[in-house]
Amino acid sequence: MNEGLAEAVVDLSAIAHNVRVVAGEARVAVMAVVKADGNGHGAVPVAQAALGAGATWLGVTSTTEALTLRAARIQAPVLSWLHRPDEDFTRLIDANVDIAASTPTHLHGIAGAAARLGKPAVVQLKVDVGLSRNGANGADWPDLVTWARKYEAEESIRVRGVWSHLSSAEEPTGPGVARVARQIARFEAALQLARGAGLAPEMVHLANSAAALGVPEARYDLCRIGLALYGIDPFGAPAPGQFGLRPAMSLRTTVINVKRVPAGTGVSYGPTYVTDRPTTLALIPLGFADGLSRTTEGRAQVWLRGRRCPIVGRIAMDQCVVDAGDLPVTLGDPVVVFGTGAGTSDAAAPTVNDWARWAGTNPHEVLTGVGARVPRVYIHGER
Ligand SMILES: *Cc1c(COP(=O)(O)O)cnc(C)c1O
Repeated sequence: MNEGLAEAVVDLSAIAHNVRVVAGEARVAVMAVVKADGNGHGAVPVAQAALGAGATWLGVTSTTEALTLRAARIQAPVLSWLHRPDEDFTRLIDANVDIAASTPTHLHGIAGAAARLGKPAVVQLKVDVGLSRNGANGADWPDLVTWARKYEAEESIRVRGVWSHLSSAEEPTGPGVARVARQIARFEAALQLARGAGLAPEMVHLANSAAALGVPEARYDLCRIGLALYGIDPFGAPAPGQFGLRPAMSLRTTVINVKRVPAGTGVSYGPTYVTDRPTTLALIPLGFADGLSRTTEGRAQVWLRGRRCPIVGRIAMDQCVVDAGDLPVTLGDPVVVFGTGAGTSDAAAPTVNDWARWAGTNPHEVLTGVGARVPRVYIHGER
């Protein structure tokens, strides 16, 4: 590693492998969800790898994200699902991006944009089955369906899909099970209402990664996978888990300062950590601006010289200190902040799930938290 203080190494062969794993399990079409710059992995390279492995759809949250894919000459079907009510939808229609609609206000805007362009918009209606985020619920669903029918009759929109999102598919046991069953029943009722009103959605979808792998009756025509695409077991199992998913990203850096210190040495701001013995401190140039959450203080570890060593004291914006004990650390030693967990010489390095546990968060937040200034380096298999 010659330039850059650190790198997020993204193995695109793992992305491809994970698409095949989910497709093999779920046996329905796969939408690779590449929102938030592909959970921090890079939306365009991830999308290309996923499509190459058989994914047929891409999912994003915004016009900006959708147009980024089109600018990279990715022509595959894309669904975008979060939009301002007053957004200019012509850009999405023009770019052949399917637009999710949850309110009549959005539908009016979409239909108006289609009329201005002289080109019908392709819409996927979202129903809320219990997550209480986007989607129409209660009496708003029949209303949304009625408006969609009207605009379909006028040929300003075409309804390609009806879809929703579950709240509890990550809980394979306990109260989550009954909640999933209730939400699927609501979804079925909403579908029936839409079909009864004359809509003929060719694409019905409900499952995220956890549902794709754990809730067969939620699979319908397609599953939208985020976490599993990136190789993280949605049920929290360490890699490879029961499905053989492979984490795609590892976060790597280098020791840039080493010092031997006596007992009683304070480390970092405060200090909140004081050495209790003579020890070796190794400085690494990654901090909370790079995604190493301050809230992991006292718990986080890195992989150095074949061991897990603790990060000690406060994590600063750009750097943190590792207590390497009596390991023979030298300047320039490689450090793995989190690895991919399997098949490599650093198989026992901390994982994304470890960091999520230390930070009291989920793996998505760890992955999307890797700072923009950390260069993404793409590999295909072992390097
Ligand atoms: C992010 C997202 C997904 C992907 O979820 P994972 O749990 O990461 O697989 C699927 N559907 C919607 C609507 C999402 O916002």
